[in-house]
Amino acid sequence: MPLDATPPPLGGETACDVLVIGGGPAGATAATLLAEKGRRVVVLEKDRHPRFHIGESLLPLNLRIFERLGVADAIAAIGVHKPGARFVSDEHGKHTAFSFAAGLNQDYTHSYQVRRSSFDQVLFARARAAGADAREGMRVLDVALDARGGHRVTARDEAGAIHAFRPRYVMDCSGRDTVLASAMGSKARNPHNNTAALYGHFRGVAPFGEAEDGNITIHLFDEGWFWMIPLPDGVMSIGVVSNPGFFKRRRGEVRDFFLETLRAVPSVARRIAEAELISDVTATGNYSYASTVMHGDGWLMAGDAYAFIDPVFSSGVLLAMASAEMGADVADAWLDDPVRAAPLARAFEAKVKRAIASLSWLIYRINSPVLRDMFMEPRNRFRMRAGLVSLLAGDVHTNTNRQPPVLAFKAAFYALSLAYRFGYRLGPDGLVKTPPAAGAVTARVAG
Ligand SMILES: Cc1cc2nc3c(=O)[nH]c(=O)nc-3n(C[C@H](O)[C@H](O)[C@H](O)COP(=O)(O)OP(=O)(O)OC[C@H]3O[C@@H](n4cnc5c(N)ncnc54)[C@H](O)[C@@H]3O)c2cc1C
Repeated sequence: MPLDATPPPLGGETACDVLVIGGGPAGATAATLLAEKGRRVVVLEKDRHPRFHIGESLLPLNLRIFERLGVADAIAAIGVHKPGARFVSDEHGKHTAFSFAAGLNQDYTHSYQVRRSSFDQVLFARARAAGADAREGMRVLDVALDARGGHRVTARDEAGAIHAFRPRYVMDCSGRDTVLASAMGSKARNPHNNTAALYGHFRGVAPFGEAEDGNITIHLFDEGWFWMIPLPDGVMSIGVVSNPGFFKRRRGEVRDFFLETLRAVPSVARRIAEAELISDVTATGNYSYASTVMHGDGWLMAGDAYAFIDPVFSSGVLLAMASAEMGADVADAWLDDPVRAAPLARAFEAKVKRAIASLSWLIYRINSPVLRDMFMEPRNRFRMRAGLVSLLAGDVHTNTNRQPPVLAFKAAFYALSLAYRFGYRLGPDGLVKTPPAAGAVTARVAG
């Protein structure tokens, strides 16, 4: 980005070991861990906490990182206890709840739904308490990478003054702004998942059952899915995710289109009948991508700054914090010895990619009749259900994906896919030979 029109930096250049771009979950995690290792860390956040952010449903495997950061109690205090995830299908006339307690990993069996304004504020404050120089209202404008001569990062504060930094290492945790990937031209759209979302906050939404149980509810409909995430103080976050063609049908205001969409799906309409929309409606488009590079000499990307996948399984915050945690180890090792850090960086890349691939396998199939039927008629033969719950819990950074229950689930999916081609369909009593019901969901499955 050219800086010709900008004034010279204020107060010279600030030297540091690591400069973290972005103070969301990834940035705050990396900054905390590196500051605790005694590194001089600067975090630059363009906004001021608390600020709104989407991504409110967390996963059990997040808890391990909260414990490591020392924020587990603080997060419990601001969150709604989340025992699992419920899937509802009007097409099947059914719903299924997956309790995290039924997963393979028995160490972390619940999670939380949070307002991201509070959550991100807790994490950012933690980074500051750990000793990071965490600055808000500072937008990074330009990053000149040069590990040997010294990187140079330029940022603008809210008053318009320019600040320059000389970090030895740069971690890009700028989220969907993808500061480095955009500057490098390395951001590639994911051809398998081209969806968009509309969302807002409501009050007065009816619980799915008798009383609110804290589960996230995913309401499936024939062109996508809705989330309903119970937040503190009786607020419900609701969003709809679908393909661009669906959103192109909008004629009037976004708000009206959103409400019409909600009212068109019976199980959702019932719940919002008495509800009041208490926020603006936000749209996010074309949102799955990955950078073709993840790290280089003296820099790396973590969280959404590297890749974003569809949020149907609430995995974004976990992926962001876990990649930042591993990335902090890479940065720390590089600062000591760039050559010896190289294998660690390669392992970091492999682990991040494996976690994304494990979740993507499910995401790419969420609109397929076979996976939907399997969700609605879950079987636990070979502990398949436990394997599926483990993926839903975010247990994707270990070798869970290769464990027999997960392999059994995938094998069942492929076997059923074949059976569906011959006119069979999964029902409560097993496979039955029947043509698909009129209006059945059809989708091309990729990956
Ligand atoms: C519709 C939708 C629904 C979602 N639902 C969920 C969910 O239920 N659960 C879940 O886990 N995830 C969900 N996600 C994903 C989740 O929002 C992200 O994966 C997560 O926030 C990534 O964290 P991060 O730290 O990488 O990025 P972010 O949280 O985006 O943080 C990046 C930070 O960098 C700052 N920044 C950006 N550019 C600059 C700059 N130039 N200079 C300084 N600062 C900068 C931003 O202000 C921001 O604070 C959802 C996403 C979408 C789009």
